[in-house]
Amino acid sequence: MQPFWLENWANPSSGYRFARVAKRAVETARAQVAALIGVEPEEIVFTSGGTESITTVVQAVAALHPDRRHLITCATEHEAMLAAAAELERRGWEITRLGVDAEGRFSLDELCAAIRPGETALVSLMMANNETGVCHPIADAAALTAEQGVLFHTDAVQAAGKVPLALGQTPVAFASFSAHKLGGPKGVGALYVRKTVRFHPLLPGGGQEDGRRGGTLNVPGIVGFGAAAQAAQAAVSQEAAEGVLARRRDAFEAELARRIENVEFHGRGAPRVPNTSNFRLPGIDAQGAVILLDNAGVCVSTGSACATGSLKPSHVLTAMGVPAVAARETLRVSLSFTTTDAELEKALQALVSVVAKLRVIRPGFTAT
Ligand code: PLP
Repeated sequence: MQPFWLENWANPSSGYRFARVAKRAVETARAQVAALIGVEPEEIVFTSGGTESITTVVQAVAALHPDRRHLITCATEHEAMLAAAAELERRGWEITRLGVDAEGRFSLDELCAAIRPGETALVSLMMANNETGVCHPIADAAALTAEQGVLFHTDAVQAAGKVPLALGQTPVAFASFSAHKLGGPKGVGALYVRKTVRFHPLLPGGGQEDGRRGGTLNVPGIVGFGAAAQAAQAAVSQEAAEGVLARRRDAFEAELARRIENVEFHGRGAPRVPNTSNFRLPGIDAQGAVILLDNAGVCVSTGSACATGSLKPSHVLTAMGVPAVAARETLRVSLSFTTTDAELEKALQALVSVVAKLRVIRPGFTAT
């Protein structure tokens, strides 16, 4: 990224030679991101991140189909999607929010029954949940949606860089991505727009990105995104073949359950991305645990990072039928391809010690 701040700082949309260097770097990054998700480079539009990509899709569909005012999504979606849907609801749209079972899975039958041909404008379902890591059957959901002549969008922010993707081989019309979820910089993302699908920009501006997203391109961010996508593609193929990260996460969970009494895992019965672990430690206050673990050099979250500090229990766990008290006792641990066994052992020891401390101040719980 650095040369594009310090040396090649030209605007890639300019006509002089200097700018062509930046333009070439952007096109290399586009090819790298396209390769990661299995689509054509010209189907990639760079954006400021997942939230912008998702909002663009929802607004584009609303602009293109004024006669259809029904959208289907899921109760466990990221706030970026839920807020975009709520905005349409304020404008008189009807929103169906599919429920999930105790493992966090929606039902394809319910989706099928909810689609109203001629009325439903968009089905938007996430590929992997950001709190539990639970993966949804997106290829099947997209196929049955397309059969009814309805557009399908997937929030693939948490799936890209963790599981192999071949979106070009599915009838998905739009998909959203964020660089910082796969080792890239924050504040840059992408939107996949299938080339056969009509589109309407959220930011028309100066017509950059082939008229699909106006605004001067964030060249260093895009270059960083491309490099991260390329690295992630290699890591994902290796993980698909060898399953090292998933085994490490599973071993961490087994060890956690062995060392701490009454741990309850969320979403463990469903397919999950290989790096996420979401669990309840009965008798501990999760917000307090985050602080104590931080003091011990271990970074974990309660629910989603955006909701940290909020007193509301996680809407994802609530939709899975987890009571509010249990949701407030829940932590999420995210591993990466670079996480080592030594780091996991340090995290386990810190967890054991923090749980012992917090359970002492809660009557009715043994210390371990
Ligand atoms: N969707 C999911 C599943 C996410 O985890 C995030 C992350 O924050 C977003 C959307 C929003 O992405 P961004 O932070 O790039 O706007």
